[in-house]
Amino acid sequence: MKTLNEHYREKFGCKVYKLSLDGGFTCPNRDGTVGIGGCIFCSASGGGEFAEKGCESIEAQLEKAKARVQSKNRNGKYIAYFQSFTNTYGPEELLRERYLSAIGPEEIVGLSIGTRPDCLGEDVMAVLKEVNAVKPVSVELGLQTIHEASARYIRRGYENDVYFDAVRRLKEANIEVVTHIILGLPGETPEMMKQTTKEVMAAGTDGVKFHLLHVLRGTDLEALIAGLEEPAESKEIRMNILTEDFKTYGQKVIDELTAYAETQPGWSLAPSNYEGVRVNIGSGWFLLRLSLHDPLLPLNIEANEAGGAKEIAKELAKFLASYDQLDAQKFLAFAN
Ligand code: SF4
Repeated sequence: MKTLNEHYREKFGCKVYKLSLDGGFTCPNRDGTVGIGGCIFCSASGGGEFAEKGCESIEAQLEKAKARVQSKNRNGKYIAYFQSFTNTYGPEELLRERYLSAIGPEEIVGLSIGTRPDCLGEDVMAVLKEVNAVKPVSVELGLQTIHEASARYIRRGYENDVYFDAVRRLKEANIEVVTHIILGLPGETPEMMKQTTKEVMAAGTDGVKFHLLHVLRGTDLEALIAGLEEPAESKEIRMNILTEDFKTYGQKVIDELTAYAETQPGWSLAPSNYEGVRVNIGSGWFLLRLSLHDPLLPLNIEANEAGGAKEIAKELAKFLASYDQLDAQKFLAFAN
């Protein structure tokens, strides 16, 4: 595992700074092709808060961006980074012209292009291959999460398979891939974030860029969370599955709990279950999931009243206590 700085030093032999540019592109998730409002966290600048202004030429933007970091960059080597909006969303000739302008100066040693995996058609791939033959190209894909329910919530606008296919095609073309992941999306637990990371690494991404969820002014996310209250209590407990075939056993617990929940007065199953079972009880809820790769059942409980999490745990303990291949000691200690 390497940091980006270490990767650049290895690849270019010195420290390299990224210069954020605005190529003047828009996004299919904003112009109506895929959606209108865009991803719920996306600001008016299309994620390019630190990019230079798109009304200026690429050359002028490069000069301004260099001037900002020149005093720190003694080697004077840079990566041009098209950051704002979807930078492969445009006609082939325009993309070629923008990319070649950005890598024209000698001190620009490579090009990074932020985009969506559904904007990498064969015409775009041909341009990327052409430019990659001049100076190394890295494509940064805004996946954010592998969990389809979260992807729908943030209005990402494409399925996971589109991402996997894009990674495969970029790797075949010998183009570096970096995947952006957001940590802290509403409803995602640490286990789910780990799962996203594991899956993108297994898909072959060369790098992962983690973002902590930022709620920017004026975004739909800001409006969505404005009405949400912090829960009075929240608890996460992980229960180890002790048997070798942990997937079968864990799935049996989830399935039987789902059936059990349907019979319990005051319990109601939530439709969006994030690969497990989520049940609303009174003014709180619990979510029990099966880890994809580890012998673990992570349990999350939230309650809107003091003492509510324990009450929910007590109810759930009646069901879980009989599973002898589940290490539920911590959970039972909390419940009792
Ligand atoms: S794909 Fe990128 S530019 Fe488009 S709406 Fe989402 S975050 Fe914004």
